Amino acid sequence: LPLIAVCGRPNVGKSTLFNRLTGSRRSIVGDEPGITRDRIYGEIEWAGRDARIVDTGGVIPDDEALIPSEIFRQAQVALEEADSIVMVVDGRTELASPDRELARLLLRGGKPVFLAVNKMDTQELLAGAENFRRLGFRNVLPISAEHGSGIGDLLDEVFASLPPEEVDEE
Ligand code: GDP
Repeated sequence: LPLIAVCGRPNVGKSTLFNRLTGSRRSIVGDEPGITRDRIYGEIEWAGRDARIVDTGGVIPDDEALIPSEIFRQAQVALEEADSIVMVVDGRTELASPDRELARLLLRGGKPVFLAVNKMDTQELLAGAENFRRLGFRNVLPISAEHGSGIGDLLDEVFASLPPEEVDEE
């Protein structure tokens, strides 16, 4: 199945989004060789199509100083293994330099990338999402992971970016 990766700083709402997308179809994968416990995989179905999704923020170190390098390490893995990547930011905060660096890394990666500006719970908050256009993503989607708004539009775009479905030969 194609793989969608969710990246971003701590507390932007990655796991809230992940849980909304996967419902109960998720598992902490850890026992296969080469897969560490810091990543949570789930399955998602949209418009009749299945994909896997990974929340790259499973475990973030307590030590603040280690957080940026950990986010970038996770993003590198996402760039290697995912077909499509969703970067999540908290639309209620100022645009910060770790967001810029992460965006630069992801945009250079050559994979389809989408920016989900989260916590846009009400119409009034949507104006705040505009700031994040400066990160340079072509696809910027305001969402509320908690309330569910904007999620359908995000999934439409992300699924449209996945490689064509393989058809089993008879
Ligand atoms: P993660 O560290 O990126 O996985 O972030 P979490 O999913 O743990 O969310 C961090 C905090 O943001 C939690 O308190 C969530 O309840 C809150 N949160 C997540 N999504 C939304 C949203 O759409 N709106 C609001 N207002 N809060 C949200």
